[in-house]
Amino acid sequence: MPDNTADRPLVVVGAGVMGTAIAALAVGHGHRVILIDRSAEARAAAPDKVELHVRTARMMGALPADRPAGALTTAMGTDAAAGACAVIEAVTEDPEEKAAVLAGLAAAVSPGTPLISNTSGLPIDEMANAVPHPEDLVGVHFMNPAYLITTVEVVLGPRSGDAAAAEVQKLLAGLGREGIVVGDGPGFVTSRLLHRMINDAIEVVHEGRATPETVDRLMRDCIGHRTGPLATADLIGLDNLADSLLVMQARTGSESFRPSELLLEKVRRQELGRKSGRGFYDYEESTR
Ligand code: NAD
Repeated sequence: MPDNTADRPLVVVGAGVMGTAIAALAVGHGHRVILIDRSAEARAAAPDKVELHVRTARMMGALPADRPAGALTTAMGTDAAAGACAVIEAVTEDPEEKAAVLAGLAAAVSPGTPLISNTSGLPIDEMANAVPHPEDLVGVHFMNPAYLITTVEVVLGPRSGDAAAAEVQKLLAGLGREGIVVGDGPGFVTSRLLHRMINDAIEVVHEGRATPETVDRLMRDCIGHRTGPLATADLIGLDNLADSLLVMQARTGSESFRPSELLLEKVRRQELGRKSGRGFYDYEESTR
């Protein structure tokens, strides 16, 4: 990659829960960011969301205090990625959408530009089939909220190249993140373990054995889980949780990833968690 990286924008695709948080992390570190989304509504809402995330992160001392924020612009299509120093794909957890977006990004940037996917569960090597230079593709599983959690899971597929892996670690270090490298496979390490546990917690509620409050309280106060699994489900977004479980179920053949009927019912009712105002808990507009 040419060494004028600092002048080139970082491109994030998908202005949802993760894309706006990743954009805030980058803007807060002084990067110029282009945030791409096909939805006009998402593009319109993005600047305020990113600004709120930056403000929250600053208040919590989670962004450097010694540098001005970078500029944020939004765009509709992947051709806006031309000239990017790196691109981060954070669109809906749908294999076909992601393949189309990655193909579009790869066509827009010059070979050697790191292509980063923030997928929760799709194997990186499966997505590498969508791009002409699979060596440029690396998985970076930012955690939620990306502007607060400083450790990320870095997924190297069998075709991920050393140069891309090194550039990605450099980018992460510049964002104050530590990347922990794991091998490829459905759900990597964190989603494979966490999503199944959350799904089980939902099933416990579905069976009527305990309320969401009780499950979360037990998992927080007895087990030491920071937020509790149902509150975490609401933070992730119940639609994304269901999509990620389905991705892992299809690729492992394991019924243990089958989304709980209660989870699917909530998605059908558009009770998606924080982002819709109601999930396992209710949220005021100001806390979303
Ligand atoms: P989201 O539903 O909040 O946002 C997805 C965004 O992608 C939407 O704004 C949508 O309009 C946009 N989009 C969909 N298809 C597109 C396309 N073809 N071109 C441009 N934009 C498109 O989803 P999210 O929760 O932000 O998840 C994004 C990715 O990050 C997923 O792969 C998810 O598995 C992963 N992830 C999510 C979390 C989490 O806690 N939510 C954590 C880590 C990783």
